[in-house]
Amino acid sequence: TFVWRKNVERNIDKLKRQLAVLLSQVDDAIAQDNAIKTESIEITPAIICEITSRLKEELSKEAPQAKEAKKALREKKKQIKEIEKKAVSLADYEQKKETLGKRNSFSKTDPDATFMRMKEDAMNNGQTKPGYNLQIGTENQFILNYALFPNPTDTLTYIPFMCSFAARYGHLASTEVADSGYGSEENYRFMEENGIEAYVKYNMFHKEQRMHYAPSPFHQDSFFYNAEQDYYVCPMGQHMERIGTKLDKTANGYQTESVRYRAQNCEGCPLRGSCFKAKGNRVIEVNHRLKEYKRKASERLTSEDGIKHRGRRCIEPEAVFGQMKADYGYKRFRHFGKDKVEMDFAFFAIAFNLKKMCRKLKKAV
Ligand code: SF4
Repeated sequence: TFVWRKNVERNIDKLKRQLAVLLSQVDDAIAQDNAIKTESIEITPAIICEITSRLKEELSKEAPQAKEAKKALREKKKQIKEIEKKAVSLADYEQKKETLGKRNSFSKTDPDATFMRMKEDAMNNGQTKPGYNLQIGTENQFILNYALFPNPTDTLTYIPFMCSFAARYGHLASTEVADSGYGSEENYRFMEENGIEAYVKYNMFHKEQRMHYAPSPFHQDSFFYNAEQDYYVCPMGQHMERIGTKLDKTANGYQTESVRYRAQNCEGCPLRGSCFKAKGNRVIEVNHRLKEYKRKASERLTSEDGIKHRGRRCIEPEAVFGQMKADYGYKRFRHFGKDKVEMDFAFFAIAFNLKKMCRKLKKAV
């Protein structure tokens, strides 16, 4: 039931090329004017429709008597039919492209669902299935907020999820705990700018906390940095001077900036084999802003409050997901379409919270 972006785009290109050839092949007598025009215009189903109706109009004026001329007319009509057929296919693919939006795939059964890898992988082959990325926010194991996303990566869901929280409650959460999947520069910035007390890990946090963790001396994070004069010192003691900046954009459109530093001369360095493999002198790219956010996050996460919050994280959303899937068998949505799936989960969340509340009240009595 899947539709993949790559296939759709490839087929659109192919059909446009075929249509351009077919249009140029249509008999000069009826289509010379149009053929000239089609060279410079963008081929769309609407334009093809307009051209074919004009061609048909021209053809209807022809009434050949000779056998040869009749045969030629039949041939022209056949060509126009072919063009119309391809225009229908083109319209179909254009429609699919529109349905895709920013996604790379969708399911024909549920066009709002995107193909993604599931945790449940019975075949053990990383097979993708149509689904939604469900994000939940919990407190004391009550579901406070939820949202469905088409992108499988959690990083991009953080800001819209927090905005949906603000829309629901009229304010942002004051304290947040999340795992390393959410620790990106863009997200850290959002937390800082909105005064959120965030306990959000980054990808290397766990490794860094290991007792015997010793970063490679050749990793750029191990290099000495002179902030005043803005240069790094490599393991051989060479200064790595700033040579420029590199701008990148995340899938969300957020612009990141990394500064590039280059070693002066790596030729003949005895450490080169362990240091890097590329040609020339070693260049490192450092995102200072992200580094600072990570430093602050690490400081907060290892503080007394941070340790307490981190300890609770595994019994907050994970416990809710566990109860949801294992206890209540809620492993699949029972509807198609984002709106209906949202309604599906809303009912589940209400029932879940009520049940939890009843149990708590019972315990309290
Ligand atoms: S290879 Fe270049 S960057 Fe690496 S230690 Fe040697 S001089 Fe320094």
